[in-house]
Amino acid sequence: MPSQDPWRLNADLHCHSTVSDGTLEPEAVVARAHANGVELLSLTDHDELSGQARAQAAAAALGLRYVPGVEISVTWAGETIHVVGLGVDPTDVELVAGVARTRDGREERAREMAEQLHAVGIEGAYEGALRYVGNPELISRTHFARYLVESGRCTDVGDVFSRYLIEGKPGFVPHRWARLSQALGWITAAGGTAVLAHPGRYRLNDTALWALVQEFREAGGTALEVVCGSHTRDQYGRFAAMSREFGLRASRGSDFHGPGESHVELGRLPPLPDSVVPVWYDWDAARQ
Ligand code: AMP
Ligand code: MN
Ligand code: MN
Ligand code: MN
Repeated sequence: MPSQDPWRLNADLHCHSTVSDGTLEPEAVVARAHANGVELLSLTDHDELSGQARAQAAAAALGLRYVPGVEISVTWAGETIHVVGLGVDPTDVELVAGVARTRDGREERAREMAEQLHAVGIEGAYEGALRYVGNPELISRTHFARYLVESGRCTDVGDVFSRYLIEGKPGFVPHRWARLSQALGWITAAGGTAVLAHPGRYRLNDTALWALVQEFREAGGTALEVVCGSHTRDQYGRFAAMSREFGLRASRGSDFHGPGESHVELGRLPPLPDSVVPVWYDWDAARQ
């Protein structure tokens, strides 16, 4: 029997498939989550909804509770911020068009990334990255990272993101994503709940982070990701406190991208602290 205490429910509300930059097909992500004991799942591919029907069908076949999701790329104060939308209608016309516009330009960006890498002696990066791409509309830095590991340039994906593809290093091409208000507008209009993803990952000082969370809440945001794959235990505490201070709910998600690549497995994070209210607290989907 799945646990009915919302704090103990094994919810994983952030992960990726081949529809964006994960390495498993949507059905395989769902099967793996189920095998790992996940009781409530959302697949949240970057700027894409085309995996939702597949994930939803796979979850239904396994009797796994599922909410459709998406992770939208946002540019805020010059920084890239990610907003997860949960419980969205994946066929909502405005949302579908919004994420399509957001991912527009990735192809050209990828070609520029490859040119920069070529300039530092790395050949064939565009073609190399493309071999890892499951969705031609979603070529991302992760795919380049896999090629840089494959070619022996870097030891692992983490190593790539310290020496390449980040600001000030070869292969970084800035991109303008959606505005925060747009992303929140699309999510809300599609019946979803907006979650600020991995707030501990942004290069923002305390003042800027507060301004971001304030603006997020004012624009209709509901929750902060408190327990997630890119936070330390100290950050669980810090963002739990922040969620209480702002009257925001809390979410939990591994941000799993694939076996052997993500350091956190689906459904294997610690539970949310008792001091916060889970974002799924009053969802019908969490009870069924
Ligand atoms: P993009 O949307 O093309 O800018 O790619 C962003 C993706 O790169 C993220 O969704 C992560 O999957 C990956 N990424 C960014 N920074 C890191 C990092 N430090 N370690 C591992 N993966 C990262
Ligand atoms: Mn990713
Ligand atoms: Mn993210
Ligand atoms: Mn993610």
